[in-house]
Amino acid sequence: MASRLKLRTGKKHGASTIAVIGLGRFGTALALELVKTGREVLGIDSDERLVQSNAEALTHVVQADSTDESSLRELGIAEFDSAVVAIGSDLEASILTASLLLQLGVPEVWAKATSVSHGRILEQLGVHHVIFPEMDMGKRVAHMVSGESLDYIQLDEDFVMAKTEVPDSFDGKTLADMKFRSNHGVTVVATRKQGSSYMPSFPETVLSAGDVMIVSGRTSKVEDFCRMGW
Ligand code: ATP
Repeated sequence: MASRLKLRTGKKHGASTIAVIGLGRFGTALALELVKTGREVLGIDSDERLVQSNAEALTHVVQADSTDESSLRELGIAEFDSAVVAIGSDLEASILTASLLLQLGVPEVWAKATSVSHGRILEQLGVHHVIFPEMDMGKRVAHMVSGESLDYIQLDEDFVMAKTEVPDSFDGKTLADMKFRSNHGVTVVATRKQGSSYMPSFPETVLSAGDVMIVSGRTSKVEDFCRMGW
């Protein structure tokens, strides 16, 4: 049965104590990464097997039904800085859990949505951060599979960062020569020569064909820029 947990005091930058509800593939990966960053993580799942398999790695793990208000109260869920609802396929459990977390006053509620309509319901409930891991990853991989870029991350509605190869036509030119911002509307954030690590970009950085560049900017500008290497 759930019982109130003792939380560490002394807050780090950002959320220090985080509850992850649902220890499926997404929830487990998230919880383990949070532990790596030094956060105190409570994992909650109704499945005893998942609770046991995560017992060593997470700060606390509890078997509980997150749609049960009394269990969440007993766990002292409102004292956590953040909670993440990582339940996807059981829509009812996801929505009920998110609504209870908001009602109990968890300061930052994050929830995973598996469809646009699921996301809309979570937003209407007042969930502070709705995330779409499968949809976002699908978009990201599409840009890689199409060959347009080596990696692609959407940072905002109309702002992306992409990893792309320096085309032959840029060989031997400096970033200053190329005037990327005025000519292409993108900023080169960093470059990497073959066999070495990424370096922040400087106007005098000389490009060689096959180097890797990280560029950022508005979505259409970055996508057009990455296609230049085709
Ligand atoms: P994955 O992250 O593996 O893709 P998923 O999106 O398919 O997961 P679900 O399988 O619906 O999501 O849920 C993830 C986890 O949440 C499961 O381990 C499940 O046992 C747990 N879970 C579902 N409902 C509840 C609940 N009411 N209380 C606690 N845990 C729950």
